[in-house]
Amino acid sequence: MFRGEFQDVPGDLAPAEIVQVADARGHVVGAGYANPASSILVRILTRAEDVPDAAWARRRLDLAVTRRTGDFGDGADARLVHAEADGLPGLVVERMGGYLVVSPDTLGAQEVLLPWLLEPLVQLGPRGVVLRAVSPSRQHEGLGLELRMLEGKPPEGPVEVREDGIVYLVDLLSGQKTGHYFDQRRNRGRVERLSHGRRVLDAFSYTGGFGLHAARGGASGVVAMDSSQEAVAALRRNAERNGATVDARVENAFDGLRAMSQARERFDLVVLDPPPFARGRSHVPAALRAYKEINLRAMRLLPPGGILCTATCSHAVSLEDFLGAVRSAAQDAGFSGRILGVHGADRDHPVRIEIPETDYLHCVLLTKE
Ligand code: SAH
Repeated sequence: MFRGEFQDVPGDLAPAEIVQVADARGHVVGAGYANPASSILVRILTRAEDVPDAAWARRRLDLAVTRRTGDFGDGADARLVHAEADGLPGLVVERMGGYLVVSPDTLGAQEVLLPWLLEPLVQLGPRGVVLRAVSPSRQHEGLGLELRMLEGKPPEGPVEVREDGIVYLVDLLSGQKTGHYFDQRRNRGRVERLSHGRRVLDAFSYTGGFGLHAARGGASGVVAMDSSQEAVAALRRNAERNGATVDARVENAFDGLRAMSQARERFDLVVLDPPPFARGRSHVPAALRAYKEINLRAMRLLPPGGILCTATCSHAVSLEDFLGAVRSAAQDAGFSGRILGVHGADRDHPVRIEIPETDYLHCVLLTKE
């Protein structure tokens, strides 16, 4: 809850203090952790009367882990805790190559939830627990950046993160941004199943999430494009590890897509999975123009029967707005075709009906007629 939503705030409110919140008539409406230094003064942990404690946090963790075990198997690499969406605001926990990687984004997550949950996390039997607190949003909470082991020995090199049988090499302790995004797992599988015999372009490829699946699905060729040299280097390493052939290029995708359409290149399947173009509401119009632009350029590369897999992960962009941008691109590109599917994030990034922001990832599959 924002500071402005409160009538009375105790003057001695301590950083990371657990507080109860009451309505104007004095009825307790919930409890959460406070951060007097943040514009979000209290993050609600529970709407119940009882005050959260370590046992409460452990129950939430257990529930989240049990769900992942059901969805992905015991000990599988996945996002185990997805913050608010798993009832643990500010805290992300991922299992990667058997290590647990803990990312607290708020003061309360770092000072309250993490101490409560460290022991239960260790009891899950990981090879080690890494604190990876590198999100720039931490500065709004008055927190610096931290990257270190909380438990166990550091891995000797990159760890092997497994996703449906494909291996991604991830440096857990290097400051470089070569992590892995689990949220697109199911959509990568969809692309894999559509790739047989097709020439595939993976634009905004990062470390090869989609491209490696396309290669395994029997693509006749895979070209990947990312503006980050580090990401492309990691992609090449991943391709080699998986015995896949990917033509990986360091390139701005806006320029690359345009150059390819000018050169009349053809791809039978194009994946667009860009970074969030809108970081806030005010960026939405510019973001929609950018989405339209890349979709238009990608559509020009597709022959009839070609497939476009286009995604947005901007929290501020709704599915409706995104579809509007794609539709507008289709009109300009003279692209007519069918929507094969509209999909969201995989199950380890749950969407909660009462928290619209948890529905941030939209992935649309289209085929040109
Ligand atoms: N598809 C990936 C995730 C993509 S994340 C996967 O499945 O894992 C977004 C990526 O876009 C990042 O790797 C970032 O380096 C890249 N990127 C950002 N701006 C770009 C641009 N203008 N051109 C090409 N790549 C860009």
